[in-house]
Amino acid sequence: MNDELPLSVAPDPPAAIPVDDDLPALLGGRPVRPAGPPVWPLADPDVAAALRTVYESGDWSRYHGPTCHALSERIAARTGCAHVVLCSSGTFAVELALRGIPVQAGDEVVLAGYDFKGNIADVLALGALPVLVDVDPVSGTLDVRGLAAAFTPSTMAVLVSHLHGGVASLPAIVETAKARGVPVIEDACQMPGARIHGREAGTWGQVGVWSFGGSKLLGAGRGGALFTNDADVAQRIRLFTQRGNDLCPLSELQAAVLLPQCDKLDERNALRAGRAKRLCAKLADLPGLRPFGTPEHDRTHPETSALVPHDTLPGFYKLGFRYDAQHWAGLPRELFVRAARAEGIALDLGFRALHLTHGRRRFRAADDLKQATLLDAQVVVLHHPVLLGEESDLGQIAAALHRIRRHAAAIRTHAPPANC
Ligand SMILES: *Cc1c(COP(=O)(O)O)cnc(C)c1O
Repeated sequence: MNDELPLSVAPDPPAAIPVDDDLPALLGGRPVRPAGPPVWPLADPDVAAALRTVYESGDWSRYHGPTCHALSERIAARTGCAHVVLCSSGTFAVELALRGIPVQAGDEVVLAGYDFKGNIADVLALGALPVLVDVDPVSGTLDVRGLAAAFTPSTMAVLVSHLHGGVASLPAIVETAKARGVPVIEDACQMPGARIHGREAGTWGQVGVWSFGGSKLLGAGRGGALFTNDADVAQRIRLFTQRGNDLCPLSELQAAVLLPQCDKLDERNALRAGRAKRLCAKLADLPGLRPFGTPEHDRTHPETSALVPHDTLPGFYKLGFRYDAQHWAGLPRELFVRAARAEGIALDLGFRALHLTHGRRRFRAADDLKQATLLDAQVVVLHHPVLLGEESDLGQIAAALHRIRRHAAAIRTHAPPANC
């Protein structure tokens, strides 16, 4: 695999518009999925029943009631954590986790140069300095090989996320951080219930975080949770949030819709992971479209061709790929995404890299962030709902992407301008 960005695209003659019924939807053909991507959330009678129950009890107007208590117990039971804090968003849960450590103004927090924007915003909100390290090319998540060099006497925490189906190397990250006495916050917002070498995602470090944002795998419109076995961390968070009332609670109404989703989480995670694997197999003959997996150096069974070891079950809020236009007749990533969306496939651009979207004075780069720079230009993500649909959906996604590939040159030449 060539990791370099294409410096120039060979100028080939303008491609003809295909005339057969294989015409890509972006060029006016019939979309592979005329109905578009599946809706989210799924219709769920158990959620409807939970809403009715919380309506009839009057708890819909409360917070800190029996439903929130039941949700906390559920999270405690599955994570083995003694302390669970429910709150108003995943982003705020990360901020609370940092405050619980405690990270204070002037401290340093290490995170990946390619990450959810809210995570660097949380570090900055505390007046702390984000220290960015590069990402692993296979998982797209914090590369443990750059971690030790990022530490200084001011390092107070490592904040690490699982992203786009890529599993961060938690065993090695925790070991490296532990050797320096640095706590780890594990952001499992994209992977609630995932398993990493047999252990629940979010439970490797001092604090784990979930999100209940609207499009997430566990949705309540908004909301988040953190869990820890560190009583001091939990106590600091309590002191911070208690201001006569709770600064940022989750409501009974939100907890009510989450409980039935928690019941189905393992079953749905298994279904999504199986579908993601089979979809990647159908796309394996497309060079220049590579799914994220487990870091190479962290695979227990490197002899298997799979990118994920047998004792790891990734979560799929998004299924991420590295898209390399060089292998797609120079079709720019933005046009590739538009072409897929025109076919009825919920593909999007990935995150922007943090060092390319923040002023130099707002962070310190611990290394050259070369892979993070590449991901900024290369990542595309498939939204998760289609992984819970029909098995035939996978064939449609593959058909759409293969069609785009057959006509990549024509799409590059003839695509209508955006917003028309
Ligand atoms: C969604 C998300 C969060 C938190 O998001 P909220 O929308 O605030 O709940 C944090 N980290 C990652 C990696 C996420 O994807």
